[in-house]
Amino acid sequence: MSNPEHHDNPDEKRRGHLPVWRDDGQVLQVNEIFYSIEGEGLRVGQPTTFVRLARCNLRCHFCDTEFDRYTEMHLDEIVAEVAHHPAQWVCFTGGEPLSQHLAGLADKLNTAGYKLHIETNGVVAPDPALFPLIDHWTVSPKRRRVVDGFDRITELKYVVGKAFSEDRVEEELAEYIYLQPESSEPRYVQKALEILSRHPHWRLSSRIHKMLGLP
Ligand code: SF4
Repeated sequence: MSNPEHHDNPDEKRRGHLPVWRDDGQVLQVNEIFYSIEGEGLRVGQPTTFVRLARCNLRCHFCDTEFDRYTEMHLDEIVAEVAHHPAQWVCFTGGEPLSQHLAGLADKLNTAGYKLHIETNGVVAPDPALFPLIDHWTVSPKRRRVVDGFDRITELKYVVGKAFSEDRVEEELAEYIYLQPESSEPRYVQKALEILSRHPHWRLSSRIHKMLGLP
């Protein structure tokens, strides 16, 4: 999933969501592949090659990613492009990466020795074939409850905006809980800090790649 600010979205709740798109997984619709650092959550600061998949099963009104734009790439082309970059980590983002059949690509990258991270909206149940291949699962929930079917969630990352309420945090699902103030606005930083004072084992996240002017 992209790293736009994720907010509660009543319109989206009313509309429901779009079907996922999965063929045999040998060709994927890729929005872009780029090298940067991970800017959010537990892996912050680690050099990472991002594979941004096209398509999303949601249409959040605040989304800042042009995920409908894509190039169709065979898995071997994607692996070759990833190999141009020096990172050990590869992060699947989007759009919604679970909207496409990712297991074949994850298998090839895993075999090539990369560590794999996925960032998902928590609305699409993952393919169980991904469980032994993905090292780091980030769910940034776009519905009040995360869909069933995750084997393990490394971190749940909630954007704290006007509508956010701490009672929606599904603490039991994840190893780490992150609160990310929407647009780094001071009022939401303050709101996140107040919530953290009641839950000191949760953590604050920001988008340091944005602060540093990185992609
Ligand atoms: S879930 Fe999809 S539409 Fe919503 S913000 Fe993320 S990428 Fe955009």
